[in-house]
This record gives sequence, C-alpha cells and structure tokens, in this order.
Amino acid sequence: MPFATVEDLVTYQKLTESNVKRIAKAKLQTEYGEFDISIYKEAYTNKEHVFLSMGDFTNGLVRLHSECLTGDVFFSRRCDCNSQLRATLKKISQEGRGAIVYLRQEGRDIGLGDKIKAYALQQNEHLDTVDANLELGHKDDERNYHQAAWILKEEGFKTVRLYTNNPDKIKYLQMHGLEVKVEKLPASVNEFNIDYLKTKKTRMGHDFFDL
Ligand SMILES: [Zn+2]
Repeated sequence: MPFATVEDLVTYQKLTESNVKRIAKAKLQTEYGEFDISIYKEAYTNKEHVFLSMGDFTNGLVRLHSECLTGDVFFSRRCDCNSQLRATLKKISQEGRGAIVYLRQEGRDIGLGDKIKAYALQQNEHLDTVDANLELGHKDDERNYHQAAWILKEEGFKTVRLYTNNPDKIKYLQMHGLEVKVEKLPASVNEFNIDYLKTKKTRMGHDFFDL
C-alpha cells in the first residue's frame, strides 16, 4: 500500500466527516421572492455559511457562491460576482425552485484585507489576479468546497444541477459522491473586469462558453 501524505489524510477526513452543522432556519422575503434561509456553522473556523433555498430545490438550479463583499454589497465592477449572484436569484425565482450555498470565503479565501492589497498590486504593479495572490504569499485560489458538499448532502441532494463555469466546484462535489449536471453561466463582461475574466479563463481553467 502506498504511503498516505498528511494532505491525503486531511482530505480523507473531510470526505468522511461533516464539519458543518445547521444552527438556524427561517423564512426570508426578498426582491426575488420568498426563500428559506438556513445557517450552517463550520467547526474549527466558526464560519457561518448560508443555504438559501426555494421550492423543490433539490431539482432546481444550484450555485455555490463565495462571499465577495465588494461585489455582492457594493456592486463592484472589478469582478463578476454580483451579476452571477443576481442571475442565479433571477433564475431561481423564475423556476420557483433552486438554492444558493453562500460560502464565507472572501477573496478566494485570502480575506478582505489581502484581497484589497491584491487589487492594489494589480493597479500599481500591473500584476494579474493570480500573480498578485502569489506575491502576497497565497495560492491563486485557496478555496475548497467540502463544506458546500456537506451542506448539499445534509439538505438531501444526490444530483446537483450546478450553475457554474468553475471546474473546481464540479470536482469537489463529485469527490463527495454527488452527481453533477452543469449549467454554464454567461460571462458578464465590462471594461473593468475583462482582464480578470480572461485570467480566470486562461490561468484558472474557468470554462466560459462566451468569452
Ligand atoms: Zn467578486
């Protein structure tokens, strides 16, 4: 039997042991209709993730959305997070079913401060988003989707109609034994995010069909 690395053991644990627990649930009336909102707390980090769902959600569209304060709250045009979030809410509202797993992993999980430092490096040193993260001592993307997979399993999913262009998200859900049917999002391009979107495509493997 080959040797198992520490990383292998950590992955094994994350695949076999849930690290999230539902701590609250209520109705949430929004501009896109009425949703159920559940809060899942992640062990060790105490991060509170959100499961927002409508109707017969296990047969609806699902998006794993990583927190982006600048985009989600301030409508930043440097990224496409807000438009992806709104596109998903609109689709769910139109279909009357679906879910968003809102993950508290800001700035591809480097945190808000370092995300803004990375923006400064992009503006002043002309680095792209990947090199800016590396310059700050991070990986290009520090996120994982184990918590998301556990939340979906907890909510009764076996098959997921995933609304994404990100191959990592597909890979993680499949690792957890979920069947994934991909529906791609259209790219939301503007003059401020075009370079960012191109970097996501060429250096991070995001599969935009229209970029
Ligand atoms: Zn964003």
